[in-house]
Amino acid sequence: MDGTVGRGLLARYGSWLPLTAATPALSLGEGGTPLVHVRRLGAQMGLRNLHVKVEGMNPTGSFKDRGMVVAVAKAIEAGAQSVICASTGNTSASAAAYGAASGLEVVVVLPKGAIAVGKLLQALMAGARVVAVDGNFDEALAVVREMAADDDHPTTLVNSVNPHRIAGQKTAAFEICDDLGRAPDFLAIPVGNAGNICAYWAGFTEYAMAGVVEQRPRMIGFQAAGAAPIVLGHRVDHPETIASAIRIGNPASWSLATAARDESGGTIDAVTDDEIIAAYQDLARSEGIFCEPSSAASIAGVRRMAAAGEIEPDALVVAVLTGNGLKDPNTAERSAGDRIIESRATMDAVRAALGW
Ligand SMILES: *Cc1c(COP(=O)(O)O)cnc(C)c1O
Repeated sequence: MDGTVGRGLLARYGSWLPLTAATPALSLGEGGTPLVHVRRLGAQMGLRNLHVKVEGMNPTGSFKDRGMVVAVAKAIEAGAQSVICASTGNTSASAAAYGAASGLEVVVVLPKGAIAVGKLLQALMAGARVVAVDGNFDEALAVVREMAADDDHPTTLVNSVNPHRIAGQKTAAFEICDDLGRAPDFLAIPVGNAGNICAYWAGFTEYAMAGVVEQRPRMIGFQAAGAAPIVLGHRVDHPETIASAIRIGNPASWSLATAARDESGGTIDAVTDDEIIAAYQDLARSEGIFCEPSSAASIAGVRRMAAAGEIEPDALVVAVLTGNGLKDPNTAERSAGDRIIESRATMDAVRAALGW
């Protein structure tokens, strides 16, 4: 520990970030998330060194906070009064929180009816102005890009096309290397708009270039089968998956993501909703780690590759769990709500209900 842990990313990794003397020291305590060796889940897949990076432990419950703290700090430095984003949910929760903490106007444009309830409530509670549009994420992103480019009403775009987002998100790769004392052999990650896979690759690359680590991991990214444009090689006009955070048909960082895949000798593949839900349940039941469905795509993908012999039993694997399971109570209820056992309030009745 170097005394900066818990004080946020700008304090801990400032020398690796595009900060100046004029950048405000913004923090909600983001970063420093746990890297957990998941022995039981790993054993089920025949992997001895499977770890998960629990990004749901960030202040608003997802990795988006890493990029947002830098993007909002830089927006303030540049004199912005307002920030805007499109979102499948977590970007809006994060923008709303960091904007509230900075006294900025926050506008979020969301696909109507397609946001997990916890994320929507986070944005509303933090005072963001929420506009629900009758289109999908890709259409919402096109709208906010147009608004941010128009000088009539100045506002700063804080989607991952903002390079400060990627700069902040690369710190997760630094933390993994700092915790392990080396880079992993494989880095497994869900892919939606594809900013995060690029951010991790940038982080591993910077650490390797600086000589902090000797090698870089193979990047293995996973899209949901109903929203897998990079795997299919063409845009998906009507992306569909239970994993709403990666329900994206035209990723903004598409070509950078395929470059990261190819440079690293990795792969970007698709996993089905059934595989995602199975991994989501297994993480909770075998490890006590409750992530959101999109996050479990990384574990579903690792399971598939391990079963196919594409990951060796001793490989050092890190799977990124991008967001907290509490954000999406509806999916959790559909997955496990029927497990409640009802009983009269007596010891004998409860014992009988348990079959004791
Ligand atoms: C944003 C998000 C993703 C996708 O990240 P991209 O950078 O868009 O590829 C995955 N999981 C969760 C929980 C997210 O919030």
